[in-house]
Formats: sequence, structure tokens, C-alpha cells
Amino acid sequence: MRMRNRTFKGGINPPGYKELTNGKPIVRANDPKVVYIPLQQHIGAPCKALVKVGEYVRMGQKIGDSIAFVSAPVHSSVSGTVKGIEPMYTPSGAKVDTIIIESDGLDELHESIKPKGNLDDLSSTEIIEIIKEAGITGLGGAGFPTHVKLSPPPEKKIDTFILNGAECEPFLTPDHRSMLEMFEKIVFGTKALMKALSVESGIIAIEKNKMDAIEAFKAVIKDSDNIKLVTMETKYPQGDEKRIINAILGKEVPSGGLPMDVGCVVNNVSTAKAIADAILEGKTLYERIVTVTGHIVKEPMVLLAKIGTPIQELIDQCGGFTEDPGKILIGGPMMGKSQFSTQVPVIKTTGGILGLSKSETQPVKIQPCIRCGRCLTVCPVYLQPLYISAYSLKNNFDEAENYRALDCVECGACSYICPAKRPLSESIKIAKNEILKTRKKSK
Ligand code: SF4
Ligand code: SF4
Repeated sequence: MRMRNRTFKGGINPPGYKELTNGKPIVRANDPKVVYIPLQQHIGAPCKALVKVGEYVRMGQKIGDSIAFVSAPVHSSVSGTVKGIEPMYTPSGAKVDTIIIESDGLDELHESIKPKGNLDDLSSTEIIEIIKEAGITGLGGAGFPTHVKLSPPPEKKIDTFILNGAECEPFLTPDHRSMLEMFEKIVFGTKALMKALSVESGIIAIEKNKMDAIEAFKAVIKDSDNIKLVTMETKYPQGDEKRIINAILGKEVPSGGLPMDVGCVVNNVSTAKAIADAILEGKTLYERIVTVTGHIVKEPMVLLAKIGTPIQELIDQCGGFTEDPGKILIGGPMMGKSQFSTQVPVIKTTGGILGLSKSETQPVKIQPCIRCGRCLTVCPVYLQPLYISAYSLKNNFDEAENYRALDCVECGACSYICPAKRPLSESIKIAKNEILKTRKKSK
């Protein structure tokens, strides 16, 4: 097959630092004694608890669900006793009702965890239902429930499925390690996703800084006529689904639109692996791969962690920090969220824990804009970050909206490149929140 490196316009090339963990096999995390399972780990409606304090639950058992379509059930990651249900902080900074379960250390599986049948015999509707019941959400980004993505309205004809293996955030490697160690399952999940969408054509898209993964996939799809492998340039934020569509298909998702508007659905490689597990083993989404990394982490590792494990336990398994951290992020340095506590639990969207030193997080001196235009050059959405930011800083959110603030994907590329260290993405984010608040009020 001819290999071409694709990419999108704009973007940046920050140092990757992936070598801290990309050569290390995935290791199972130590079993937590207590897990904290938030009832909302996804975009959409929160779940309601299906269990009571004092009840015995088994691993994989559904313990929270919602009747809303845009939601995803949550499952126990251990067998043990429910000790409490109370509001607790999640990595998003929100306080969410959380089921606290004390593990009995036996990991007794719930009886519902069993293979769901042969993929050839499952209908599209059955596959989507399995995915929904397994609580699968996008594991590479914001945590959008996968069954919703797979159920576009009838007027939106989907003809292409893209499997996203970009993993463009610096430091993070859970997708890379999954691609190396679980490529056959990922291809199985890709076939399941294609069948769920009734599409004939699937594309596995991987950045060229993961040549070992590209070679692994080449071998496993060599006899599949309808799945193509495409290599992409290494660039941030190529993993953004609209950027990857642009890089692979040359199509632009319209402003305010969704991939389905250009006949496409994009899913992450780890999501495909979770789907394979759900069909082949009946496994619900109660564990995920987390990279614990950073120059101040004693022994950076890629861990298979149970959902609900406090992140401090994963940091401890890596030997802790070599110095007091300046910041601990959940996620990468570009889009990760700074944490004020290491007691927050791993949730479905936790792909990485990044420790940054005090010197790496020194406050910068903000200078006046020198009109160099670099922020415009790198913005993957073709925005004018300097103007949106300037209007936001003057609280002129109407004008920020006119400059398409809502199209900003919060990638941080403009802030990264700005020689004057202007707080561009931060102020644009504020503008977005204000615009959305005003819209909500006027409804
Ligand atoms: S304006 Fe938004 S989308 Fe454009 S570079 Fe800045 S953060 Fe990224
Ligand atoms: S990159 Fe910074 S200094 Fe250059 S135009 Fe944009 S805001 Fe101004």
C-alpha cells in the first residue's frame, strides 16, 4: 500500500517527551482498596445510582445509569461493599455524586460479563446496544458517549470511518502502547464500529512518530480490503477530530457542525479496544490505560488502572516525584487540567497524569502584542486569536463572538507560539463560557 503523510493547515510542533514512556510495556496498576466512581464521567446527563450503601457489588456490574440518550452508565471496577454515595471532586474540577466501594480484593466478576456473540452475527443495532450498556465513551478526549456518535440522524449519511491514532498531546502514550500491544483487538473494534455505522470504508490514521505501531497495523490489516492505513505528519492538534478529517479527507467540518455533517465518524484507538473487549468478553468500561509521566516522576509508567483509583496511588506506584511538583495535570501539557488534589479518581477520560516541576511552571511575564501574526498562522481553525483575546480581556464578548470565539477548540497552540506570552487561549476560553452563559439565559 502506498503510504502518504497527511496533515492539516496550522498547528505546532512542541517537544513530545513521549520517550519517557513509549518504550515501556503496559503494567497493571496495584489494586486499590477503595474506589470512587463518579456518576458522571462523560458529556451528557449524569447517572443515578442503582445501588445502595451496604450493598455488595461485583466487578463490571452496572451501578449507575440514566434514561437520557446522551449519557453512559458507570460500572464497578472491584467487587466489594458500597460504603457511601456522596459528592466528590472529579478531575474536571466539578463535584459529582460518587459511589464509594471498599474492595474485598477478590475481583469477582458480575454474571453479566460474558461474550456477546460473533461479530458477523450481530446487527448494527445490537453492536450499538452492547457499546451503550458497556458504558463506552470516547477515551481520547472529552468523553462523548460512543453510542450517540454511532446513531446519527437518518438524513446524515455516513460513508467513512476514521480510527484516530494521532495521540498528538506531548507526554501521553496510552494510545501508542495500546496500538503496539493490542493491535488485533483494535482492528476488531474498528470492524465492529464500521458494522455499527454500516460503512464500507475505514481508515486507521497514525502519526509518523509511531512507526512501530504503523508496522504492526500494516501486518494485521494486509488482507482487509476495506480498511486503509494512513500515516500523518507529527503535529499538534492533529488528534482533534475535525483536524484529522481535514488531514485525511481534505474536508472541512462547517463552523458549529459535527463530523457527521461531512459523512464521517471518528473514534479513538483505545475506544475501539474497549469495544472489542465489550463484544468478545462482555467487559464493561471499568478500567483504562493511564500514562503517569513527567521529568519529575521517579519512574514514569503506563498503567492499566481501575476506574475510581485515586491518582495518588498511581503516582506512588511510579515512585512519587523527585521534587515538589509545580503542577499536576490530568492530561497533557496543552489541554490537561491542573489538579488541586491527588485524591481525585481515575475516570474514563483520564489518559495521563503529568507532574511538572516548579521551574517548568514558572509564571511568565506578559508583554504587549507585537502584531507578529504567529497566532493566526498556527490556529487550526483559522481564527484570529489576538483579536478574540483582546475583546475578551475588555469584556466585549459580543465582538469576541463575531470573531468566531465559539469555534475555538481550546488547543492552546496560539498561547504556545505567542512570543509576547499573551494569555490567548485562556482568555478565549473565558469568552466562550460567557457567550454560552448569555445564550443559555436568553433561551
Ligand atoms: S484560537 Fe483556539 S483553536 Fe485557535 S489556536 Fe488558539 S486555542 Fe487553538
Ligand atoms: S502571536 Fe502574540 S504577539 Fe504575535 S500577533 Fe498573536 S498575540 Fe500578538
